[in-house]
Amino acid sequence: MSPQHFDVIVVGGSYAGLSAAMPLARARRSILMIDAGQRRNRTVERAHGFLGHDGKDPAAIAALGREQLLAYPNVQWRDALAEQVRRETQPDGERFVVTCNDGVSVAADRLVLATGLTDDLPDIPGLAQRWGKTVFNCPYCDGYELDLGEVGVIGTGALSVHESMMLTDWGTVSLFTNACVDLDADQAAQLQARGVTIVDGVVASIDEHATVVLDDGRRLALRGLFVAPRQRMTSALPEQLGCTLEEGPFGSFIRTDSCKATDVPGVYACGDAARATHSLASAVGDGFQAGVAVHQSLVFA
Ligand SMILES: Cc1cc2nc3c(=O)[nH]c(=O)nc-3n(C[C@H](O)[C@H](O)[C@H](O)COP(=O)(O)OP(=O)(O)OC[C@H]3O[C@@H](n4cnc5c(N)ncnc54)[C@H](O)[C@@H]3O)c2cc1C
Repeated sequence: MSPQHFDVIVVGGSYAGLSAAMPLARARRSILMIDAGQRRNRTVERAHGFLGHDGKDPAAIAALGREQLLAYPNVQWRDALAEQVRRETQPDGERFVVTCNDGVSVAADRLVLATGLTDDLPDIPGLAQRWGKTVFNCPYCDGYELDLGEVGVIGTGALSVHESMMLTDWGTVSLFTNACVDLDADQAAQLQARGVTIVDGVVASIDEHATVVLDDGRRLALRGLFVAPRQRMTSALPEQLGCTLEEGPFGSFIRTDSCKATDVPGVYACGDAARATHSLASAVGDGFQAGVAVHQSLVFA
């Protein structure tokens, strides 16, 4: 039996994917959303900086988007992981066959990848369970709520210097070099000029609210902690399709043009998976751009 066919399959049903689907839904195109339900901010209780939703539960923002999208009868949804994709070039254009982890295959003329990124957190006991609660990555998202208190940066590499200097607008900053940050004289002077305290030593664990425990037994209680983890593609689909990746400051992301088309014909990408910088607002803007471009490509193929 041939797989059920749609105009568009969107893989990833979070902010970027939902937003990509919206203009297509309103153009009465048939759409299948496939989503594994693992938003990058799933440990977070309040998302900040997204106009109209500042301070709301990010799960509720995504759920409202999903509810509004599924009100269009031409949109279908599968809770599943898209594991495999096959591209077939037909006489009348591209066709994609996606196979999910439940063994079901589906097909479409266009594919949107809104599959997000995964943060590779440093392997420090106590850090992962505080991720998005008292340990953060983005000052614009979570700095304000620290009320100009004592802030720690857990060093992961050169970017931690940049992050420490920025964070001085949000509190009194200590940079834990953690055997990962080698400061040259210029950097040390710049940090000093911004009032950053440099704390050498290896971070052994994170305890209590946001207490950094060093391997020599020192304990520093902070209001909040920041870390700049490496990020990687959540999904293997971009690689299976042969999408070109670009290297950003935190890791790689899918290269797209200004319309969010990848360099694989018929494949579009949006949100964190296809940008160097990340937020709900940019994921939603990116997704909408991708959705409009996909529609145009279907009309003017
Ligand atoms: C700790 C933390 C706090 C943050 N706080 C804020 C904040 O306050 N404000 C803000 O603007 N931004 C914040 N962000 C950033 C924000 O979470 C991201 O920019 C946003 O989630 C990106 O949306 P997205 O749709 O591109 O990807 P995601 O939200 O990560 O969604 C990707 C979706 O694709 C699905 N998926 C992936 N692969 C597959 C597959 N093969 N098959 C099916 N489904 C798949 C995933 O399961 C997931 O549902 C925060 C991030 C972190 C880590």
